[in-house]
Amino acid sequence: MIEVRNLTKKYGDHFAIQDISFSLEKGKIYGLLGPNGAGKSTTMNIMTGYIAATSGEVIIEGHDIFKEAEEAKKHIGYLPEIPPLYMDMTVWEYLFTVADLKGVPKSERKSMIGDVMEKVMLTNMKDRLIKNLSKGYKQRVGIAQTLIGNPDIIILDEPTVGLDPKQIIEIRTLIKRLGEDHTVLISSHILSEIGAVCDHVVIINKGHLVVSDSTENLEKLFKGQDILCLSAQGELEKIQNILREFPALSIADMKEAEEAETYRFQLKVQDQADYRKQLFFRFAEAGIPLLEISRAGMSLEDIFLEITEEGRA
Ligand code: ADP
Ligand code: MG
Repeated sequence: MIEVRNLTKKYGDHFAIQDISFSLEKGKIYGLLGPNGAGKSTTMNIMTGYIAATSGEVIIEGHDIFKEAEEAKKHIGYLPEIPPLYMDMTVWEYLFTVADLKGVPKSERKSMIGDVMEKVMLTNMKDRLIKNLSKGYKQRVGIAQTLIGNPDIIILDEPTVGLDPKQIIEIRTLIKRLGEDHTVLISSHILSEIGAVCDHVVIINKGHLVVSDSTENLEKLFKGQDILCLSAQGELEKIQNILREFPALSIADMKEAEEAETYRFQLKVQDQADYRKQLFFRFAEAGIPLLEISRAGMSLEDIFLEITEEGRA
């Protein structure tokens, strides 16, 4: 229902995004994930017709966003990074103005705004001035605005940025609910956000597409890469020598613990085997006590760090 094909945007000599392609199917929640500056807002601004691409195309329900902008835009509700709110209007006045701008027939406006306010739980705030609302409620008004006109596709650029944890959960719940009736695309630079809400993840980094796959597949794909956490008390060199005896283990991270001569390692396990017992006996033999040994699969968070260099810095 949305095809993004070979999208490229250049600012001067700088590529904000380069050759990005993906597609969105009906009825799913998609996450566009990437560190700050990756090109998320640029991609969304092009998809929604706010800015032009340098090259490439976006087809929405069969309509080219550049060539048939009016038809294509009817299918999309968009909440940009900076919500287009009129602070001196009440919630009702603002949504009425949006309905007017979007060409919702007069006879339908009242009931549509009523429905939308119910959906995002804003009804009891309808006569408040937008400037007097909390950040969480302002964001709901921003989302409400996308729903006016009942578009099939809702695109939200970092909808939870700047919210407190309680508001984040509320907005997440709301997004899940929107996913029941709409195709949703949300962007975020926080992976846990996407993992919690989205069916499918498109990851971009430095303007390039890194991976596009279901949340489930991404987790499966990297499940093989287990991590072992191990704390050992003894001479660092001896500990490292023992670890070298296990070719399938590589040291991903090492920290000195607060206790004297205690080192905490994160080991990557290359072959999915469970080395805990072997390590236990080998370290015991060497007279080096292990204070901790535990196994963990890679979380989506780790995967994100792995495939976007930014996250590692
Ligand atoms: P994100 O939303 O993922 O943080 P953006 O799409 O905002 O990333 O930005 C992608 C890249 O494009 C960044 O390097 C940014 O500096 C650059 N960029 C974005 N908008 C402009 C602009 N109007 N002029 C010049 N460079 C821009
Ligand atoms: Mg952005």
